[in-house]
Amino acid sequence: MTTANTADIVIAGAGIGGLATALALHAKGIDAVVLETAPELAPLGVGINIQPAAIGVLTELGLGEALAATGIRTREHRYLDHKGVTLWAEPRGVAAGHEHPQYSIHRGELQMLLLAAVRDRLGHDAVRTGLRVDTFEQTASGVRVFAHGETGGAAVFEASALVGADGLHSAVRSRLHPGRDSLSPGGVDMWRGVAEVDEFLDGRTMILANDDQATRLIAYPISRRHAERGKALVNWVCLVAAPSKDLSDGAGWNRPGRIEEVLPHLAEWDFDWIDLHAMLASSPRILRYPMVDRDPLPRWGEGRVTLLGDAAHLMYPIGANGASQAILDATALAAELARGDDVAAALERYEAVRRPATTAIVLANRNMDGAERAIAGRAVQDKADELATITHRYRMTVERRQPLA
Ligand SMILES: Cc1cc2nc3c(=O)[nH]c(=O)nc-3n(C[C@H](O)[C@H](O)[C@H](O)COP(=O)(O)OP(=O)(O)OC[C@H]3O[C@@H](n4cnc5c(N)ncnc54)[C@H](O)[C@@H]3O)c2cc1C
Repeated sequence: MTTANTADIVIAGAGIGGLATALALHAKGIDAVVLETAPELAPLGVGINIQPAAIGVLTELGLGEALAATGIRTREHRYLDHKGVTLWAEPRGVAAGHEHPQYSIHRGELQMLLLAAVRDRLGHDAVRTGLRVDTFEQTASGVRVFAHGETGGAAVFEASALVGADGLHSAVRSRLHPGRDSLSPGGVDMWRGVAEVDEFLDGRTMILANDDQATRLIAYPISRRHAERGKALVNWVCLVAAPSKDLSDGAGWNRPGRIEEVLPHLAEWDFDWIDLHAMLASSPRILRYPMVDRDPLPRWGEGRVTLLGDAAHLMYPIGANGASQAILDATALAAELARGDDVAAALERYEAVRRPATTAIVLANRNMDGAERAIAGRAVQDKADELATITHRYRMTVERRQPLA
């Protein structure tokens, strides 16, 4: 059976971008319905970072206190070698002069926090789970969105716009850009996990370590609740060069990995203030993901349909910007639609603002990854100098700030 529905805006995907879009639209007086494939939303994923500009958006949306109660206000990124020697450190968030903090947070907890706000403000049925958006057709006065349920039912929505916030394997993107689905391999395998340990350093520092083989380990605490009892719930990611670049197996955020695959790459690693091997081995679940992105698109949308978040601009997690950029997309889209003129024109203006900005970040992430790997074999002082240059160049591109004196 097919059910017929109407909605102002249909959003495909209740991830970070889709839910933030529903909230941003609601704040401008525009209703939306979010269609989500998953039968139930569960707090999936491990840690992510939300950069200050995106925290500004979420704070405007009234989520500042909930974020503060959940995540960690990151104070510093500290670059180390594989023996724990500090090479370079940069302040982050408020410590770097931003008005808002950078938060390190569990992706699933952030998603649940956004979901609760959407259901509270827009009503429980504003997020319809178990409905996969398949395709759409544009009509004279709107867009018709076709979805199907896990249990066989189908649903059609008549809306004034469709936003494809359906992530890594976006159906909306495939329909808009047939033949442009291929993932671009970064030649790096990433294992990820979350482990509980005693609090380390100041409890608000992200460590980014790199050895002579360009094996990297990034680790940072993500839970305020753990910090309150002197513990750290640490998100870690181990990045290892994987020259085959074989993506025949595709990519998925929830694919399992094994500790035996990770530890041999870190055999020579030794920090005297934390037992890294024990920390990684204590992770209840390990995930494996190839570092991939997609070449930036020459355009995102068409008429009353557009893209947002990973569906529009999948990027390497290097630089910790994926979720932040999805949130910035959301507020830009809501601002343009709220002007109340032609919907297609509003979507074009949204794209004109956000596509160049996010294209620059996709490319900056590629550059930063290459630059970090290239310095692996250098002497300690060289590495330290290079890291200062690499991180400074990245911030200039991504944060669009004036060069520091
Ligand atoms: C399960 C999961 C775990 C993740 N874990 C991490 C992590 O540990 N670290 C990290 O850096 N990033 C992770 N990510 C990606 C990260 O959330 C995004 O890079 C970033 O937040 C941008 O968000 P987004 O809304 O564009 O995409 P996502 O947050 O990926 O959300 C996309 C949503 O769309 C839904 N969807 C997909 N296809 C359809 C369809 N056809 N119709 C309707 N709904 C659809 C998905 O189920 C998902 O809920 C994860 C994503 C997912 C889905």
